[in-house]
Parts: sequence; structure tokens; C-alpha cells
Amino acid sequence: MEHVDTIILGAGAAGLFCAGFAAAKGASVLVVDHAKRPAEKVRISGGGRCNFTNLYAGAGNYISGNPHFAKSALARYTQWDFIDLLARHGITWHEKTLGQLFCDGKSAAIVEMLLAEARAAEIRLETTVDEIVHDGSSFRLTLSGRPVICRNLVVATGGKSIPKMGATGLGYQIAAQFGLPVTETRPGLVPLTFAPHELDWIAPLAGTAVEARVCANGTSFDEALLFTHRGLSGPAVLQISNYWREGDAITVDLLPSLNAFEVLKAARTENGRRQIQTALATLFPAKLAQALAEKFALTGNLADQSDKALQALAERLHGLTLKPTGSEGYRTAEVTLGGVDTDALSSKTMETRTVPGLYFIGEVVDVTGWLGGYNFQWAWASAAAAGRAIADK
Ligand code: FAD
Repeated sequence: MEHVDTIILGAGAAGLFCAGFAAAKGASVLVVDHAKRPAEKVRISGGGRCNFTNLYAGAGNYISGNPHFAKSALARYTQWDFIDLLARHGITWHEKTLGQLFCDGKSAAIVEMLLAEARAAEIRLETTVDEIVHDGSSFRLTLSGRPVICRNLVVATGGKSIPKMGATGLGYQIAAQFGLPVTETRPGLVPLTFAPHELDWIAPLAGTAVEARVCANGTSFDEALLFTHRGLSGPAVLQISNYWREGDAITVDLLPSLNAFEVLKAARTENGRRQIQTALATLFPAKLAQALAEKFALTGNLADQSDKALQALAERLHGLTLKPTGSEGYRTAEVTLGGVDTDALSSKTMETRTVPGLYFIGEVVDVTGWLGGYNFQWAWASAAAAGRAIADK
């Protein structure tokens, strides 16, 4: 019968990172994954350059049933710790925007770094988790038909996003097996879809992008908005999808950095004979200007528009209310919101309160970050918290 100190389920961002910490003092660590290759999401992330952390990452950038839960782990393994690690591995990086750090080269360098850091652990790929039995002091797992016994079991199997890349609900099933609460899961950082009557004007704009402020349920993001054949995407919409619930409307400010009424009035004073649609084309891409003119049934010259009419138009441009019918779902969602309830876990070690030796880390936990490197920072920080606690046992 094979015995190891620690088994980590999932050789993704969190699982691999945890392995190095857990094995740091000589204990045996086995990392198991059903995929052919480790850390596939790291490899494809950030358009192949991995947005590995964010300069401004803090608990306020995460959504969780307990907004304080992430503080401890994030404080004890920070973005600066990860940046130091990259320096030790000779990986160079740059800030793209809003504190988002990307590799100068390919994200494969991060995967290589994670594997190098985890070199003291054994990584067993293409291995299935058939059964887990707990006898009070140890866990007996059946892995691809073979029994293995361990003292510590770390669940790092991620969320449900992108099943094509190997995502399964295993982590939630394990939580259920041990009687741990799981909060409602739903796709996050995902494009929003619309009913045919909205798509009539949205779909022809596919490929058009504008800087916008998108708001839902009291939260807003100022970033790019992209029109698509099925609805809206782009960073601002992906961000707001984390806060949007089915049935809610979103509000789009198409001119977040301007006072549209003042701009339109000034344009009228400057050249009253200009068509209103032509005036809009100085503020937006031509296709969008035309679509807005049609949507709002705008006709005539600027001189024909009263202050009241320009004010009404300005209000619509600053507060376009749209009602998504749904999202693109787990097929394209970058993350899964919800997960193992943080009430069941120690925020210092990620160990479950009721099953000693059982840990949950990374995306499977009910902690979900904004777009921009926050989700990987949570994977690193929660993995370090669990790995250090295991090594210190
Ligand atoms: P994962 O990295 O998903 O790892 C889970 C592992 O568990 C996988 O290897 C999987 O094969 C394995 N597994 C699952 N089920 C089983 C099972 N039944 N048996 C055995 N093994 C199993 N975040 C950022 O911060 N920056 C980015 O640039 C970024 N880009 C992204 C781009 C895309 C397209 C996607 C989908 C996500 C992106 N994310 C990004 C989110 C980020 O990838 C995740 O938050 C992060 O990978 C979570 O780490 P994890 O280790 O918890 O889970």
C-alpha cells in the first residue's frame, strides 16, 4: 500500500504552487490530475502571456460570502512575493493597465516555474480520483484503481469554468461528501447575452469597442465594452458579470469621462447645421453613432434640437439601460463564482474546521477575483497558506 504525507488533487495554479510549500521540509507530496498536462489554464491565460497578479490586489477585489476571508492569506503571500519569485526564475514582466502584470514572454515560463518550485513533489497526470474514504486520522484514496493513503488531503480542483479544459465539479462533490457547505455556483467573468429585440441593434455592431462605465447592483467598472454577435463582452462587461444576477438590468455610460449635454450644446453652437448623427460620430465609432441615432430615432440638425431634447439624449448616452437575458455560461466563463463556503475553512490555513487534514484552495473556494490577475493571486496566496501550514505540522 502506497503512503504519502500529502495528496493534492489538481495540478493547476493552486495545486502546483501548494506542492512546493508542502514539500519544503521534506514531507512526501503527491499531486494528482486527470489532465494530460499540468496548469493548462495558466498556459492559455492572458492571451498566452498570463496576467499572473495585480499590483493593487487586496481583499476588496474579491467577491465572497465573507468579504474579510481572503485578507489573511493575501497579506501573508502578496503580489510582491510572487514578483520576487519571478525575479529568482529570471521571468520578466510588464504592467499592461490598471496594475495588471503580464509576462514579457510566454505564459509557459510560469508553468515551468511552478513545476520547478514543485520539483520535490511527485506529479501524477492522467490519473482519476475514484474514491475517497476518511477513517478519522487518514484519507484512503483510490487513484486510477490504486489505493494511496495520506494524512493531508488538499482539494485544488478549481471551478466549473471551461469543461473542455478539464474542469469538473469534483471539489464540490468532495465538500458534499464531508458535509461541508457549498454556496451557489455560477459563471463569472463571462460575456452577457441579450434577447433578439436588443440583438437587432447590438449584433450589427459586433467587433466595435468603446470605453464605457458599466454598472449593476451598485458596482461599476470603467473599461472597454465590446459589442458581439450574441451580446456584450470586453473587460467592463466581464467585470460586471460577477455582480449581475439573472433578471437584473445593467446601465451603460457610453461617455463616462465627458458631460454629454455640454458637449452636444457646444457642438450646436459651433455648427448648428450639422446632422445629429454626424455630431455623434465625433464621439463614437461611426457604426455605433448610426446605431444610436436609429435606436433613439434621432433626426434633423443640431439646431433643431432644444436644450430639453439634448438633455434627454445626454441622459440616454450616460445611462443606457439594458437587460441581459443570460450569460455565455461555463463554456467561456473565466471563473466560477461561489464554492466551498468560507465559514467551513480557517482563513489562515485553508483547513476545514470539521475534518482535520482536509484543505480547499484556489477557485473551488467561495472567493472570486475581478478580471486582471486577481484570481491567480488568490490561487498563489491560498496555496501558500495551506502549503506552509502542512509543512509546519
Ligand atoms: P485550475 O487552475 O482550474 O486547476 C484545477 C486543476 O484540477 C486542473 O488542472 C484540472 O485538470 C484538475 N481537475 C479538475 N477536476 C478534476 C478531477 N475530477 N480529477 C482530477 N483532476 C481534476 N486569472 C488570472 O488571474 N489572470 C488571467 O490572465 C486569467 N486568464 C484566464 C483565462 C481563461 C481562458 C480562463 C478560463 C481563466 C483565466 N483566469 C485568469 C482564471 C484562472 O485561470 C483561475 O482562477 C485559476 O486557474 C484557478 O486556479 P486553481 O488551481 O484553483 O484551478
